Amino acid sequence: MSQIRVTCREGAYPVEVGLKQTHILKQLLGRSVGSGRLFVICDAQWYALHGERFLKRAGFPRKRTIVTVIPPGERSKSARCLAGLYDCLLSGRIERGDFILACGGGVTSDLAGYAAATLLRGIPWGVVSTTLVGMVDAAIGGKTGINHGRGKNLIGAFWPPKFVWSDLEYLYTLPRRHMVAGLGELVKSAGLTGKRFPREISSLMATGDLYDMRRLEPLVRRAAAFKASVVSRDERDNGVRQQLNYGHTVGHAIERGTGYRGLLHGEAVILGMAAALQLGQMVGIAEERHTTEFAALVDECVTWVPRRRIDELRVLEGLAVDKKRRGGSIRFVLLKRPGRAVIADDVPRKLIVAAVQRMLAKYNQTGGSHG
Ligand code: NAD
Repeated sequence: MSQIRVTCREGAYPVEVGLKQTHILKQLLGRSVGSGRLFVICDAQWYALHGERFLKRAGFPRKRTIVTVIPPGERSKSARCLAGLYDCLLSGRIERGDFILACGGGVTSDLAGYAAATLLRGIPWGVVSTTLVGMVDAAIGGKTGINHGRGKNLIGAFWPPKFVWSDLEYLYTLPRRHMVAGLGELVKSAGLTGKRFPREISSLMATGDLYDMRRLEPLVRRAAAFKASVVSRDERDNGVRQQLNYGHTVGHAIERGTGYRGLLHGEAVILGMAAALQLGQMVGIAEERHTTEFAALVDECVTWVPRRRIDELRVLEGLAVDKKRRGGSIRFVLLKRPGRAVIADDVPRKLIVAAVQRMLAKYNQTGGSHG
């Protein structure tokens, strides 16, 4: 494993990315938990597949380990599930000298991290990240939280973990749709990083096998290192971190417009990037000869997104909610070229509508045609 570090107000923490590297986890746990107890939080689906074997391999004394299992899926990022989790942790008499370990995807790390941030005014925690979305994005950066009826991630806290451990071995069991969702965040990173990154993802996709871990591993490491460098420069999301919302403006509007039931977040981000690329061209920000190759990569990703009915008006309504929240403007992250993001707040509405229409036309034509 090569070590990536995130610096934050509390100091710094490692992000370990590798394949079959349990001995590193043992070291991390040994260093972080000390003589306290380990409160493992994971979802039922992950636990059924990996829980017992994981606990054995982690090698932490079982009598000092307490496991809490939450239901899988986005619905667990709720006040209700959080209250249940507080109950479990408090009845286990958790103390500040103990350690919370979130094992699973972004839902588990967001929820468990928020519980860690708020219980007893802060308990140290770590992440065993087991989805592609988690490894390249959700587990890194210390943003924790839950959803509210009025929207996603509206309640939360910045609470950096003590470590992130991402072993790609777990991805062998991750369903293909969740791999594609992770691909969305991976491609986002490549768009923001530039250089050879987009081309390397294209060659992985050309093999048609996202589960080729030897090829995937360096890409995940690169995306994780990119996210680590961005959040180290802007922990609290006041500046450069905002570029990580590339593809998210329309992506969120699609999720909202389909009642969070149509597409997975990462799939919606793929369509959001396709719309942002259209918009970048229309407003004249995109340098065409530098963005063509990246646009082809995003178009290819669109063919991997399952076909769903997405209503244009609903997406535009979703964008209007964003506008209201931001005090009258819709913020887009656009690419001048891969590696050069620009924030645009004053894009004319008719261009936004046209970009959404073009993206949807492409999606309706090619979406779901891969595999
Ligand atoms: P998830 O945590 O719901 O995991 C997806 C599914 O995969 C779940 O059903 C889970 O049980 C299953 N799973 C997990 N690991 C598995 C494995 N190894 N094998 C088989 N199945 C496995 O979803 P996600 O895509 O990881 O994360 C999405 C969440 O992350 C969203 O709530 C999003 O808001 C959040 N997020 C947070 C940040 C952040 O900075 N905090 C960034 C991006 C996304």
